[in-house]
Amino acid sequence: MDTEYYDDIIIGGGKAGKTLAPALVAAGRKTALVERSLTMIGGGCINIACISTKTMVASAEVAHTVRIVPFMAFKLPHLLLI
Ligand SMILES: Cc1cc2nc3c(=O)[nH]c(=O)nc-3n(C[C@H](O)[C@H](O)[C@H](O)COP(=O)(O)OP(=O)(O)OC[C@H]3O[C@@H](n4cnc5c(N)ncnc54)[C@H](O)[C@@H]3O)c2cc1C
Repeated sequence: MDTEYYDDIIIGGGKAGKTLAPALVAAGRKTALVERSLTMIGGGCINIACISTKTMVASAEVAHTVRIVPFMAFKLPHLLLI
């Protein structure tokens, strides 16, 4: 097995790692980035936190708005009420 040498090894391909890695490479350093999970490439923000949460909150707001429509001064077709 060949041995590879790096100036830096970053553990974690999240927001921090994927920001730092290109900066180190641009500075001429040989850098490795290690991510433990194929489903977590990009880190928590993209995969399970910020984006996912915002999507769920936006969906919940739409559902809430549709539910309270009957209590407003106008009506939507019956099928849209969930
Ligand atoms: C519900 C929720 C909502 C959020 N909303 C926002 C928002 O709106 N805006 C905002 O700016 N921030 C938000 N955040 C915070 C944001 O998600 C974090 O600040 C950001 O993800 C931190 O980035 P990071 O790179 O430090 O860590 P992470 O994104 O957690 O990345 C760490 C990575 O390291 C990997 N790893 C861990 N251990 C190992 C190991 N031993 N070997 C190899 N890889 C490993 C993980 O798999 C992961 O991919 C939110 C967080 C949560 C929980």
